[in-house]
Amino acid sequence: VQEKLRTTDRMVSLGTLAAGVAHELNNPISFVLSNLRFAVDELGEQTEAGKPPSAEQLEEIQQALREALEGGERMRNIVHDLRSFARREDERLGPVDIHAVLDSCASLARSAIRHRAQLVKEYGDIPRVLANESRLGQLFLNLLVNAGQAIPEGDVKGHSVRITTARAEDGWVVISVRDTGVGIPPENLQRLFKPFFTTKPVGVGTGLGLSICHGIVTAMGGRIEVSSEVGKGTTFRVFMPEADRAMQAATGTKSA
Ligand code: ADP
Ligand code: MG
Repeated sequence: VQEKLRTTDRMVSLGTLAAGVAHELNNPISFVLSNLRFAVDELGEQTEAGKPPSAEQLEEIQQALREALEGGERMRNIVHDLRSFARREDERLGPVDIHAVLDSCASLARSAIRHRAQLVKEYGDIPRVLANESRLGQLFLNLLVNAGQAIPEGDVKGHSVRITTARAEDGWVVISVRDTGVGIPPENLQRLFKPFFTTKPVGVGTGLGLSICHGIVTAMGGRIEVSSEVGKGTTFRVFMPEADRAMQAATGTKSA
C-alpha cells in the first residue's frame, strides 16, 4: 500500500506540474504562432503583388517578429525552470540556495496567481539549507498553486501571495507562503495533511498536494506548520535546517 501510494503521489504531482506548464506555455505559443503567421502572410502578399513592402509595412512586420522573439524567450525560460525540477529521481540531500528554488517556483506558478493576486517576495539574508532541490521545488510549487486557488479571480490589487524567507531559531531557516485567500476553518486544519482531503471539485483537487508536501518536508528533516483565519487568509511555514550546521552535526565535527 505504501509503495502504491508513493507511486500515485509521484504521478499526481507530475500531473499538477504538467498541467501548470501546459497552461503557462500555451499563451506564448499561440502568440508566437499568430505573429509569425502575420509576418508570413504580409510578406507573401507583397511578393505576389510584385512590389517591395513599404517602410510602414516593414515596421509592422518587424514589430511582429520582435514580439514573437520575446514569446520564444519566455518559452525557453519556462523550459529552463522546469528542467531544474526534472532531474533524475535523486533523493540525495545537499546545500540548496532556497531563493533560486523559490524564483523558479514563482515563475512556474505565475499562471495560477497572475489574475488573482500580486506575488510579493521578501527574501531575507539566509544561509543555504540542507535539502533536495527538486523535492523542495515540488513542495513550494504545491503551496503556491494552493495559495492561488484560495483567492478568487479578479481583484488582483486587493490580494497578495507573499513569499518570505528568514532565519528562525538556532540553525533553522523559515520559508513562509502567505495568502489573503478564503482561509481554512479550524475543523479542517487537522485533516489538511491527510491524503485525499480536499474541498475542491473533482478535477481541480486531488487532496494529495499537502500530504506530498508533508512527506517531502519530513523526509528532509524539516517541518511544516499552518495557521489560518477564515476570510483573512492562510500562512504555511516550512522550517529547514541550515546546511552547514546540519552537515557538521552529521559528520560529528565539533568547533573547539
Ligand atoms: P487539493 O489542493 O488538491 O485540494 P491539497 O492537499 O493541496 O489538495 O489541499 C487540501 C485542502 O486544503 C484543499 O482542498 C483546501 O481546502 C485546503 N487548502 C490548502 N491550501 C490552502 C490555502 N492556501 N488556502 C485555503 N485552503 C487551503
Ligand atoms: Mg493542492
